[in-house]
Amino acid sequence: MPRPILATIHPAAVQHNLARARRAAPDAKTWAVVKANAYGHGIERVFEGLRSADGFALLDLDEAQRVRHLGWRGPILLLEGVFEARDLELCSRLDLWHAVHCDAQIDMLAAHKTNVPHRVFLKMNSGMNRLGFTPERFRSAWARLNALPQVDEISLMTHFSDADGPRGIRHQMQVFNEVTRDLPGERSLSNSAATLRHTVPAGDNATDAPDTLMSDWIRPGIVLYGSAPDHPEHTSLDWGLLPTMTLSSKIIATQAIETGASVGYGSKFVAEHPLTLGVVACGYADGYPRVCPTGTPVLVAGQRTRTLGRVSMDMLAVDLTPLHAAGQSVGFGTEVTLWGRASNGAVLGIDEVAQSAGTLGYELMCALAPRVPVLVDDGC
Ligand SMILES: *Cc1c(COP(=O)(O)O)cnc(C)c1O
Repeated sequence: MPRPILATIHPAAVQHNLARARRAAPDAKTWAVVKANAYGHGIERVFEGLRSADGFALLDLDEAQRVRHLGWRGPILLLEGVFEARDLELCSRLDLWHAVHCDAQIDMLAAHKTNVPHRVFLKMNSGMNRLGFTPERFRSAWARLNALPQVDEISLMTHFSDADGPRGIRHQMQVFNEVTRDLPGERSLSNSAATLRHTVPAGDNATDAPDTLMSDWIRPGIVLYGSAPDHPEHTSLDWGLLPTMTLSSKIIATQAIETGASVGYGSKFVAEHPLTLGVVACGYADGYPRVCPTGTPVLVAGQRTRTLGRVSMDMLAVDLTPLHAAGQSVGFGTEVTLWGRASNGAVLGIDEVAQSAGTLGYELMCALAPRVPVLVDDGC
């Protein structure tokens, strides 16, 4: 029998979360962001849940090919555009739309031979200082693209640095709106956080409020995968999101320890009273963060408890005290949920575990290790 560790992907939950994102911006079209292999879930595994998206946004050409291979004939957007000239040939062949964020990409387009002009998304660096033309150079880049026979429609995009936090999007919106006011083309602005926090449905007469926005294409990523973009200010429950990945395993040993006994490498946990611990077949080589300290939440038989001591490569320890207190018999073979949904329906949000590790749900789902078997849950 293989080790009992298992990741379960829930495409129906992905579908639910996509609908949630759409409700926040009902007039916009939706790019389902599936970069990084659908945030570690596997593009093929979540595809059914994302069929109602208007397009797929990603970075890697091989991922774009995989989406086409799944039979998707609608729009696909390369969020970082092309990396070298010959990528444009694949864009022509697979009908990929691509971001244009620098002069080198315009040069490559100008030299590209194609019968069908490309749909491009011209990216502005409105303050994030990662990709894009500065506001000063944006309009000349637009004019240059517009003059190219290789280019069809030009859409306008930017990306927010603080949509999830107190600084918000207002400063970047002002820059973007000022520079693009009279330029034609569709706009794509909002990631998950901006979609949930800063979009007000049309009809609320809110278009004039400087920190709400209307966008022709929203670009939700993390919400599709059931994680709150602004945890812990809001939880996934607050936003009405469902977990899309469950990481589960089983107890493979128990130890009854006395007061003063220590647990695991470095003796990081020392018992203050006698207790029984369960040893779980899950460690950092499975993608569970090694930095999670004693006290990280975990579900045993669907009941909440905590980890004890350091996470090792293949194992971690959990406190069975609350289960014993409830009179539950647990031991070898008992189900453990590291994040996601337990068999009894209890949910442990990936964001809570991420918070313990000082990181975000994004990183945990993307870091699921290749050695973990993955099952697709057809039920939910
Ligand atoms: C990753 C990414 C997104 C999605 O971001 P989330 O925070 O996961 O919603 C949107 N736009 C761009 C340009 C991205 O790179």
